[in-house]
Amino acid sequence: MEFLRPATWDEALAAKAEFPTALPISGGTDVMVEMNFDVHRPSAILDLNRITELRQWEITDGVVRLGASVPYARIINELSEPLPGLALAAHTVGSPQIRNRGGVGGNLGGASPAGDAHPALLAAGRDVFVEVASAARGTRLIAIDDFYVGVKRNSMEKDELILRVHIPVADGPQQFSKIGTRNAMVIAVCAFGFALHPKNGTVGTGIGSAAPTPRRAVAAEEFLQGVLAERGLWESGDLLGAEVIQQFGELVKAAASPIDDVRGTADYRRHSLAVMARRTLTWTWNDYSKQIRSAA
Ligand SMILES: Cc1cc2nc3c(=O)[nH]c(=O)nc-3n(C[C@H](O)[C@H](O)[C@H](O)COP(=O)(O)OP(=O)(O)OC[C@H]3O[C@@H](n4cnc5c(N)ncnc54)[C@H](O)[C@@H]3O)c2cc1C
Repeated sequence: MEFLRPATWDEALAAKAEFPTALPISGGTDVMVEMNFDVHRPSAILDLNRITELRQWEITDGVVRLGASVPYARIINELSEPLPGLALAAHTVGSPQIRNRGGVGGNLGGASPAGDAHPALLAAGRDVFVEVASAARGTRLIAIDDFYVGVKRNSMEKDELILRVHIPVADGPQQFSKIGTRNAMVIAVCAFGFALHPKNGTVGTGIGSAAPTPRRAVAAEEFLQGVLAERGLWESGDLLGAEVIQQFGELVKAAASPIDDVRGTADYRRHSLAVMARRTLTWTWNDYSKQIRSAA
């Protein structure tokens, strides 16, 4: 097996162009498990750990540009204010050891429907982009809604690598909720991300582990956006009412298409998604109302 160890981003892209079947490795928390279980016997490994840009983040023009290999532990410690939903999701990943190694680029590269970053990225809005690049065609931005194309499949080409993810700085409360068989070191039975975006009057949702790909609950988003706008709730911060919260939960549940598997049944996943949707909406709206009242 070839072991490729580029020192720069350009060298990494050149290596990926020359060896398109080379398997990129960042934290290795997915790659090494799969190699140990013989899921992969790649002809070459492309180690991305010497590339500085992948471990950096910056905020420009209200957008966090998050390097693909910034580990979850740093997202929690350094980015919980601008990216509260993603930081909450990061808290639930694996254990301290996994959070010190694994990052969002690896979650996106694997594109597992159970990856915890995905619901938070979807909920962060339609202006989330994955920046990928190849030696032949340069850089392109893939909208998060176009990124997930099948079970463990994303829309990247064979010669492309993920450089960073562009995520707008939160302008309202965000939440993440995950059901597992215990509180740590579990793959989600299902998960839900939710965000309020008061600046443009939208809300964001993300469903994990309850469909072939991570997906948003579009009808639930449209329903809630309509209610918030028609009733002037963004301005008043008044109570949403039990019926609105209930209906939102039902629409999130209807957006899922889960399966029965070793981690849980489809029915249980649907039920728990409705519960998580109601809870995360209630938590975020309570926080938003408090902000409105304290600003008045
Ligand atoms: C014990 C344990 C517990 C875990 N718990 C969770 C959990 O709770 N939630 C969760 O979501 N995940 C969990 N995982 C899975 C894993 O930690 C995450 O998916 C993590 O985000 C992977 O990041 P990584 O940097 O380690 O990726 P790697 O293993 O290095 O790579 C993962 C995939 O992404 C590709 N890749 C990596 N970087 C790039 C890049 N820059 N460009 C293109 N492709 C790239 C690789 O080729 C590979 O296909 C767990 C894993 C273990 C071993």
